[in-house]
Amino acid sequence: MASLFTHPAPALALAVALGPNVIPPRLAVVMVLASVLPDLDVAGFAFGVQYAEAAGHRGLSHSLVFAVGLGLLAALAAPRLRAKRLIAFFGVFLAVLSHTLLDAATTGGLGVAFFWPFDETRHFLPWRPIAVSPFSPAAFFSAWGKRVILSELRWVWAPCLILAFGGMVIRRVKNNKATL
Ligand SMILES: [Zn+2]
Repeated sequence: MASLFTHPAPALALAVALGPNVIPPRLAVVMVLASVLPDLDVAGFAFGVQYAEAAGHRGLSHSLVFAVGLGLLAALAAPRLRAKRLIAFFGVFLAVLSHTLLDAATTGGLGVAFFWPFDETRHFLPWRPIAVSPFSPAAFFSAWGKRVILSELRWVWAPCLILAFGGMVIRRVKNNKATL
């Protein structure tokens, strides 16, 4: 996995870039939760589920079908999220998809079961710049942890900050034009 702190970055950036009129705060919170939800699959280790199984880590919860499924649930719950159905769908779908893509861009572990249930093969992206995150929190305070944080700052947080602030600036300029 990428680290737990970094998985919400793309969802947060999207919410900030598009602003609260498009992504209401409730939907933004659900998007952040959705962006870390796939990694609940690590709980399976405690019950003897093997990493490479469909229910194992980076298995079915890291598939396109899972992302679409959560998106559909969000679309159903859209009125409670104070969001339009299509926006709720795409917000949550993209939040989950960002999780899977970040994992597929890491340097270690098994790949993601992107095409589950049609094909359980694990996949990585052709380009994998993100140092894989350790499972153990203690390992974060090691040279490995430092390498993970630096690579995530460079390859995830920096582009996400650019997206967030770029979106904010564009919204400001549009609003100013509208009031002129
Ligand atoms: Zn993951």
